[in-house]
Amino acid sequence: MPNLKPYADQVSDALARLNGMRTLRCPAPDCTLRIRYRAVTPDEAGRLAALARDHTRHGNPK
Ligand SMILES: [Zn+2]
Repeated sequence: MPNLKPYADQVSDALARLNGMRTLRCPAPDCTLRIRYRAVTPDEAGRLAALARDHTRHGNPK
């Protein structure tokens, strides 16, 4: 992954980690999808991860 994240993004990610939160991102280059969660079951975490990684499941159909 290229390190092109805006600085504000990195800061908010760091804060989220301090809070014990996980942040999932979509790998699609122009997609801004982010899912944050904390204290979910492993099943739910797996579902969220699958949703975040699969751009076709949340992307704008254009
Ligand atoms: Zn996406």
